Amino acid sequence: MYQSFIGLEVHIHLLTKTKVFCGCRSAFGDAPNTNICPVCLGYPGVLPVLNREALRMGCLVARALNCRIPERTWFERKQYFYPDMPKNYQISQFASPLGQEGFFDIEGKGWAKRVRIKECHLEEDAGKMIHTGTVSLLDYNRAGVSLLEIVTEPDLETGEEAELFIQHLRRVVRYLGVCDGNMEEGSLRADANVSINLPGRGLGRKVEIKNLNSSRFVRLGLNYEIQRQGLLLDAGKPVMQETRLWNQNRDQTEPLRTKENAQDYRYFPEPDLPVFAPEPEFLASVEAGLVELPLPRRKRFETEYGLPFDPADLLCQEKALADYFEEAVEAVRAQAPEISKTDAAGRVANWVLTDLKHLLSRAGLSLEEIGLCRANPRRLGVLVALTESGRVSMKNGKQTLAAVMAEDREPESIIAGRGWEQLTDPGALREAVRGVFAAEPETLADLRAALAEGNKKRSRTLRAYLVGKTLEATGGRGDPKIAVAQIEAMLAGN
Ligand code: ADP
Ligand code: ZN
Ligand code: MG
Repeated sequence: MYQSFIGLEVHIHLLTKTKVFCGCRSAFGDAPNTNICPVCLGYPGVLPVLNREALRMGCLVARALNCRIPERTWFERKQYFYPDMPKNYQISQFASPLGQEGFFDIEGKGWAKRVRIKECHLEEDAGKMIHTGTVSLLDYNRAGVSLLEIVTEPDLETGEEAELFIQHLRRVVRYLGVCDGNMEEGSLRADANVSINLPGRGLGRKVEIKNLNSSRFVRLGLNYEIQRQGLLLDAGKPVMQETRLWNQNRDQTEPLRTKENAQDYRYFPEPDLPVFAPEPEFLASVEAGLVELPLPRRKRFETEYGLPFDPADLLCQEKALADYFEEAVEAVRAQAPEISKTDAAGRVANWVLTDLKHLLSRAGLSLEEIGLCRANPRRLGVLVALTESGRVSMKNGKQTLAAVMAEDREPESIIAGRGWEQLTDPGALREAVRGVFAAEPETLADLRAALAEGNKKRSRTLRAYLVGKTLEATGGRGDPKIAVAQIEAMLAGN
């Protein structure tokens, strides 16, 4: 068997309002060639001006990936000809990128891996070519959009690991609020490099799969490539160093071009942009943006709230969802301090990941938009406390949640208005039981006989029947536990 080595180059669009070197709007989906100016069209003689917000966001990602921010960082020109790059060079970073030598931990259930990050560098995106029939159209709206490239060392080994890396990274940049992570729109895209070799022989000759716009294609493309290269080596043939593309219709990679070497780009320092030496205030503003990241947060959810891996992981997939969860647990505790934190957390996790999730999707809201939901964390907390204390049945509690979403009212007012409060008065339940006993003399006699015989199965069935009748007599509002207690008491002659 062979060893495999995978290194990823992930490009993310930073959510800056304007482009990285000019004041044009940075947006996806606007009418073609509406967000353009002489700078991003690459007219001769124009001067780029660095967008500080892009630099701050880039450094924020670098720090989240445990990279070092150098004392001096600058830009280079990377020369190449391409119709979507009218300047014939791209302003990028080469010798001293803004983030260097970090690492990123990825984790599955009972599995963990540390991936070294080689660097993060800031650059400008190119325009977009649209090929239609016999002509190619050019849209320069994307030209000059802030792009951060994250380059890993070849520490990943399988398509599955690479897919997980992308998914984890996507969560992180969304938590930081620096990228929307939308792979379909190209806000996050990856080039995947892969080589194989005999164990102990180190890296093999790499193939690059370019422009993967879904984490699934990353997995499929890499696993396909690992297999293809293995067959070549088995047959004693060399692997060509080249760039390939994933063909999603044929489920295979296909050759695009042989890869240029780094020096072909003739990098040289961009003369129109000064060297940036991050001052303490800038670095402080970067540190201030470092929120608790998804992986440590998931671990905290496991230890602090006693949640199993899966619900903790699901709750941490979106920052807004994790925030909602924590606020709702607080609300339960404020309402009913006798409920322990772990109990409250378990209940809230259940409500959020089943009923609320379902209601959200029915209301056309994504998990990220949970903050807009009418069932705000306080309302859910109140409702969970009410069902836990037995003041509302589980069934009515769930209906209340649906009504909160539909009517935008407080749970208490819905429960009161609908008469959904649970009947917990023992006297009232005893009255109901008395009525049921009077109406069901035969069942009662059968039950007494079964109890006398010690026929547990039959007595259980008959008792359950009488509980059902009692609850029915209360219009479904009776507390089942108290109903059972009253039936027991009356059977015992009390
Ligand atoms: P290039 O100069 O061709 O762009 P880099 O050294 O910048 O190559 O690496 C690009 C990506 O390819 C990185 O993610 C790196 O980890 C990965 N990589 C480099 N060499 C190999 C190899 N032999 N096998 C697998 N991945 C590799
Ligand atoms: Zn512009
Ligand atoms: Mg490279």
